[in-house]
Amino acid sequence: MKKILLVDDSKFWRLLLYDLLKSNFEVYIADSGFDGIKKAFEYYPDIILTDYNMPDISGIFLSIVLRNYNEFKNSGIFILTSSDDKLDDFWVKKSGANKFFSKLIFKEKDKLDDFLITLKMNDFYSIKTNNHKISREKIYEIIEQKLKSEIFQKEILNLLKFVRDEKHLIFRLYIFFKDLFDIDSFFTLLLSESEGRIYSFNGNVSKNHAKALLLSYFEKPTIPTTWTFIGDFNDNSSKKIKEHEKFLIKFENKEEGIILVKPGLNNFKSMTNLISTSLGVVFNTLNNFKEYMNASIFDGLTELYNKKNLIIKIEEFVKKYSTNSTIAIIDIDNFKSVNDKYGHVVGDKVLKKLANIIKNTIDKNAIAGRYGGEEFIILFNSPEIAFTTVEKIFDTIHKTDWGGILNDKRKITISCGVSSYKMNQTITDFIDSADKLLYKAKKDGKDRYYFENYNLMENKYIV
Ligand code: GH3
Ligand code: MG
Ligand code: MG
Repeated sequence: MKKILLVDDSKFWRLLLYDLLKSNFEVYIADSGFDGIKKAFEYYPDIILTDYNMPDISGIFLSIVLRNYNEFKNSGIFILTSSDDKLDDFWVKKSGANKFFSKLIFKEKDKLDDFLITLKMNDFYSIKTNNHKISREKIYEIIEQKLKSEIFQKEILNLLKFVRDEKHLIFRLYIFFKDLFDIDSFFTLLLSESEGRIYSFNGNVSKNHAKALLLSYFEKPTIPTTWTFIGDFNDNSSKKIKEHEKFLIKFENKEEGIILVKPGLNNFKSMTNLISTSLGVVFNTLNNFKEYMNASIFDGLTELYNKKNLIIKIEEFVKKYSTNSTIAIIDIDNFKSVNDKYGHVVGDKVLKKLANIIKNTIDKNAIAGRYGGEEFIILFNSPEIAFTTVEKIFDTIHKTDWGGILNDKRKITISCGVSSYKMNQTITDFIDSADKLLYKAKKDGKDRYYFENYNLMENKYIV
């Protein structure tokens, strides 16, 4: 027979419920909230049927306390109330109880039958353990812990108002941790598909060390192509992060990031468990926001700037570097036939590979973007650098082994037109001037680049 514990401060209700249930259950009785918890740990009832309002602690608190223990994770906890407050159902569920029943059901046979059917369901059980003495102090401690947890979670969720400024949000989080624990340094890694961001406060270790260590704690990390480092790093340092405490942050089982503090602290684990849900929400939101922003700036396939942002960048370059601004337009030769022969998937791989060659060749002042299907633009802040870089890109493409992608001996070639900005040109004119040179390169047989500035190219074709 299943065991049921009745908790009610009213003798009338204890007797009534006892009479109702005694033929189907092994019944235990408690006359207050504290008594209920004490008896739960004495008899391990499968079901606890408790009154809501009692003079010491309410049925809600009783439920919160019992659910805190694994022994009662699967017990049936039902709360009876004589009020008809619509919110009761909400609070009962939040306390971890299964369901609440109004005491009015005793006036309606159908409802009373439903109530009995629910109690008789076989799903509920408690797990008996030995020597689990629970004192009043312990009960208050659990309730207080629950209250603190709610306040902490709210504090963390409040940080979401800074979602547009990740740096600031993470800084506030660092201050929060610093205030709570006497930490020395604080590291965090936020991992989204396109970008990993690593923050270091008072870290002073090398970027590579921080990245390797933080990543090593992930179970299955996605590895993005872009990494950003913010805060105190020292690439000349061989110092290692020792005696730290780590806290992996998940949202719906997906690993969103990690926090690492130094030195390791005793109460860190229990504290961070209190805020793990809200930190999961915050990190997940930051990662989603990052993806969303990146998607509106970068081209999804090549991870170069997309057309819209390229135009913004061209305007910025012209303002900043005037006639030194130099634009190179690159177009893949006979790309349609690559698609036709090898398929679109292979075509995409060629585009990606070319994008990587461009990314790896340009200097840090240059900007590359995807202007159209198989057209790329590179922006330089000096014609000389444009010249040497374009030459290098052609050289690399000629030396590249395309066999890994194409599975035969075919070579991929490109054509390119390069032009510098002239005073009072519009952005469209500026792009057009390079495009005209590209067109000429195509017409003259492809696999070549044309510059308009003959001073740079005395021995090459000059337009
Ligand atoms: P040309 O040497 O004159 O530039 O000839 P082309 O075949 O490269 O030029 P065309 O403009 O005729 O064709 C460009 C092709 O690029 C057509 C289109 O199928 C392909 N393309 C555009 N965007 C993508 C893409 O994102 N992925 C793949 N695989 N192909 C693309
Ligand atoms: Mg082409
Ligand atoms: Mg084209």
